[in-house]
Amino acid sequence: MGDKFKRILIIADIEGSTGCWNYRASSFMTNEWARACVEMTRDVNAVVQALFQNGAETVRVKDFHRTGYNLLPELIDSRADVVHGYRTGPVPGIGDPGEAEAVMFLGMHAASGTDGFLAHTLTSRVQQLEINGAPLAEIQLFASSLGPWGLKPIFFSGCAVACKQASAVIEKILVYPIDKSVGQNRFDAASWRAGLQQAAVEALENNLTAPYKPGGPLRAMVQMRTGEIAAQKIAKRWGLNYRGKQIIFDAPDMHELYMNLIRICYLTPAVEKMLPLCLLAYNLWGKIGLAWVRWRNRGQKN
Ligand SMILES: [Zn+2]
Repeated sequence: MGDKFKRILIIADIEGSTGCWNYRASSFMTNEWARACVEMTRDVNAVVQALFQNGAETVRVKDFHRTGYNLLPELIDSRADVVHGYRTGPVPGIGDPGEAEAVMFLGMHAASGTDGFLAHTLTSRVQQLEINGAPLAEIQLFASSLGPWGLKPIFFSGCAVACKQASAVIEKILVYPIDKSVGQNRFDAASWRAGLQQAAVEALENNLTAPYKPGGPLRAMVQMRTGEIAAQKIAKRWGLNYRGKQIIFDAPDMHELYMNLIRICYLTPAVEKMLPLCLLAYNLWGKIGLAWVRWRNRGQKN
């Protein structure tokens, strides 16, 4: 332990937040989701405030669930920079990582094919995703995309299974689990958040992790929940191999692997060619969703 990190990037997801207790709450434009956005925002704000109180100088929050428009910036400490939507690069989805030295992951979930709360990798259409025979969690994709910028993954919060997976791949990362087995009504969000704040503040002194730069080559096996025909269609579209409902490909490193997964999960060759335009439309869709969230929660005391 030594100097505290002062410039922090937060990657925020919803499944492991205090607002999300079922699949509907993670789905676009549902009443459950509208409430979940508020609670996710409160979790993030609790951490943001604690970080600023404990010496952080800049905090950038990247909203990373579905459309990337879930967080309500008006409920977050105005010193933080809340970034909505997705960008093509330089860091896939995130865009410019800014000046951050370290990254914290909030509200995360476990990998596809494992038994965590709403476990999935990138999309729930992926039933199982293995890299060199082991399940691939999103933290591996996100942390490795930030590795070349020198960002150290220092903190992770999600269900116990997700935390275990994060600890297995990022040595010495500090984790803070959320136990959803008690159910939404009996869950004490206020005291859980207080614990989250304390753990995140401790992580500011976590100098024990290194930027995540996994080696290659990597062999990916992506099993689609949508079945054999869908898997073959995707594989053929991108010139990849397939076997039953599995898409199989090799990548020299995690960056190439991540790019292929983005293609498999979200794109078609036509969309990729017009990606900036398509992202503009997608981000507009997200903005409309967030406007709806505000309308749904109108009159609520925050
Ligand atoms: Zn999510």
